[in-house]
Amino acid sequence: MQIKKIDDFQWLLPRTGSMRVPGIIYTNESGLNAIKKEETFKQVCNVASLPGIIKASMAMPDIHWGYGFPIGGVAAFDWETGVISPGGVGYDINCGVRLARTNLEEKDVRPHLRNLINALFREIPSGIGSTGSLKLTNSEEKNVLKKGSLWAVQQGFGHASDLERTEDGGCMPDADPETLSKRALERGKKQLGTLGSGNHFLEVGVVETIFDLEAARAYGLFEGQVTLMLHTGSRGLGYQVCDDHLAMMTKQANKLGTNLPDRQLVCARIQSEPGRHYLSAMACAANYAWANRQVLMHKAGLVLMDILGISPKTLRMNLVYDLCHNIAKKESHIIDGKKQIVCVHRKGATRSFGPGHPSICPEYRKVGQPILIPGDMGTASYVLAGTQRAMQETFGSTCHGAGRVLSRKAAKKASRGRSIQRELEDLGILVKWTGRSTLAEEMPDAYKDISQVVDIVHGAGLSKKVAKLRPMAVLKG
Ligand code: 5GP
Ligand code: MN
Ligand code: MN
Repeated sequence: MQIKKIDDFQWLLPRTGSMRVPGIIYTNESGLNAIKKEETFKQVCNVASLPGIIKASMAMPDIHWGYGFPIGGVAAFDWETGVISPGGVGYDINCGVRLARTNLEEKDVRPHLRNLINALFREIPSGIGSTGSLKLTNSEEKNVLKKGSLWAVQQGFGHASDLERTEDGGCMPDADPETLSKRALERGKKQLGTLGSGNHFLEVGVVETIFDLEAARAYGLFEGQVTLMLHTGSRGLGYQVCDDHLAMMTKQANKLGTNLPDRQLVCARIQSEPGRHYLSAMACAANYAWANRQVLMHKAGLVLMDILGISPKTLRMNLVYDLCHNIAKKESHIIDGKKQIVCVHRKGATRSFGPGHPSICPEYRKVGQPILIPGDMGTASYVLAGTQRAMQETFGSTCHGAGRVLSRKAAKKASRGRSIQRELEDLGILVKWTGRSTLAEEMPDAYKDISQVVDIVHGAGLSKKVAKLRPMAVLKG
């Protein structure tokens, strides 16, 4: 496969065969060598062949193999002539990250850390298929699906001010619960307020370094500050929505005899019955995920106050931001000097809207939206800011994490004979987990070096470094 260097941070996969646009990979020399090129780059090229794709099929430096579309992939399609693909969103619809800041410093929390992580483990249900204390009735569930974060706020989970610090206000429009299968609805009723498995986490961290003082001030961050970071999505409900629509679209594609380079890329025109149907169901799952994160972060705050014996006034916990990294969205972008309505698929990629964008809340607008990039449980995570350059080049998108270097199986093998828990404790990081092989599969060595990934998106101008966080205690699924 041909790969041409554009500059230090961009590589071109030229158009060949059925590709309608080229592929562009954002990475550097050593990043390029770390990517399993053939299978992953083939996926970038496959996406480039889909109808209505605009400009390029793009990949961020945390790229790795995914179902149909690569994880770390960004692709935009014309709203009138393009397609929507469930594989371009991913199974965990609106998987995302939320960060809360507090008024506490490391020294306030460190002495209570063991009690804190034990209490979080007790109070926050985690693991595959875990169910929560919130059991929804049919009509309550429909409200969750239609309202998203607002539903949770109305039930007393968090504050109204959280909504404007959530991407899209924590609610996607056109969410119609009637588009969901019985099975999807059934799975959703018992799982609100649960973390889920493996890669999902709740992390107590501390701000280690500030890179951009102006942006950090705007986001309310300071060195030594204790933070809470949450990573989870739409649980079994979102998974079921993806599965249901892949099956429906595949059936339709078989009937029409559509020619795709990979069956996993199955898609539908946005302006078609199956396309609209999926978008509406996807919006329901996205709203469910936002409500889930809203509930969980509120619960984590209660646990923190209880263990430290402090009041909300002392804790002063506030949401910094909440973002999705598995989603397809209707957005307006300037393409070749003209405004165009597009459907941006971000799969393992994060929105990176730059300074002045009207969808950013007033307090952050001047510096660009906050971007939350988790690294791994033993190293670091980053807060970045959106840029104008991302608006021009990547439909306002950047990376979503470090990205895996080892498959789950390979990670398990590499962890044999080691105690990952002990290794983390030696670094001052306490960890509690549910799944039998979670710790091995999720160990720091399973992921790329987050600082390198972030340096690439910073160097490429897709987002700007604001702060680096260090983990203190991690609850994993
Ligand atoms: P994904 O949504 O693709 O599963 O993962 C998002 C990113 O989260 C991963 O690429 C990885 O860099 C990061 N990550 C996974 N587990 C942890 C964790 O326990 N703590 C932190 N800070 N980051 C993690
Ligand atoms: Mn995720
Ligand atoms: Mn997820």
